[in-house]
Amino acid sequence: MEDIANPERTRKILKRYGFKFKKSLGQNFLTNITILKQIVEAGEITKDDDVIEIGPGIGSLTEQIARKAHQVLSFEIDDRLIPVLKDTLNHYHNVTVLNQDILEADLPTLIAKHFDGQHNLKIVANLPYYITTPIMLHLLEAGLPIDRMVLMMQKEVAERIDAAPGSKAYGSLSIAVQLHSEVKLAFIVPKTAFVPQPNVDSAIVEFVGRQEPLVTVQNQQLFDQLVRGAFAQRRKTLWNNLQNQFGKQEEVKAGLVAALDQADIAPSTRAEQLSIQQFAQLSDCLNEQPVFAKKRGISNCQI
Ligand code: SAM
Repeated sequence: MEDIANPERTRKILKRYGFKFKKSLGQNFLTNITILKQIVEAGEITKDDDVIEIGPGIGSLTEQIARKAHQVLSFEIDDRLIPVLKDTLNHYHNVTVLNQDILEADLPTLIAKHFDGQHNLKIVANLPYYITTPIMLHLLEAGLPIDRMVLMMQKEVAERIDAAPGSKAYGSLSIAVQLHSEVKLAFIVPKTAFVPQPNVDSAIVEFVGRQEPLVTVQNQQLFDQLVRGAFAQRRKTLWNNLQNQFGKQEEVKAGLVAALDQADIAPSTRAEQLSIQQFAQLSDCLNEQPVFAKKRGISNCQI
């Protein structure tokens, strides 16, 4: 069967349905079959896998996934694409398309409804770039037992996700993602692989879920607040950013000084110099200060 991604077939499908791309929905469709196959290969998809796809478009990637997977569940927000997908994917009886905003989707419930629970769970998608970060956080925070995730996104976001401490791209997104997954920037995709061409280059990122988070902290809320605050203004020192985040009252400043001292971190340090483990340690040291403490558990403060 001819691939949907074949540029000629894509053109015919778009013409038949009089389809006009909506930039506001991040609609850049892939028409390069080699890249589509590379994405599916990166997903290591077999008949043991149930796969969630976000934004099937006209079904180019969906089709390639469906050929390899047990079941596919795709979320497409644009109702104009539903009749198109019914047509293009009508040979694939293992695909269900839901006309739904992925950010509104109750994933655990839908997975329980559409998948049998006997297969690995994978996520493979060419993401709509205007909401790359919210989608990734939605997926990671849903607490799903994801075995593997392969996402195409704008190169700049991929670099932030994959960044190590000390690099310019390292920030709160790197930490949020690396806490729960091992990540690898697999390859770069040129703009020319899409219609219409986006303004930026893209990259494929592979995520493998960790059995346990990289670090566990006493007070996750405080850790999140600490990381967000520490990176709020990248040019400023930790000391300035943390005062802005937590307050400038004397007791707060005293708590900050004590926690930084206990964690052996100089107040003049910049957030990008701290590893995830150091953030965890500082978070637990802060949590030991009465002015910040909310929850107790095993502490990273003294290690
Ligand atoms: N998978 C197709 C491909 O690779 O050619 C299309 C990918 S295109 C980059 C992104 C797709 O996501 C579009 O079909 C768009 O309508 C859809 N989309 C945008 N926002 C969405 C959302 N919040 N939930 C689900 N789908 C969304």
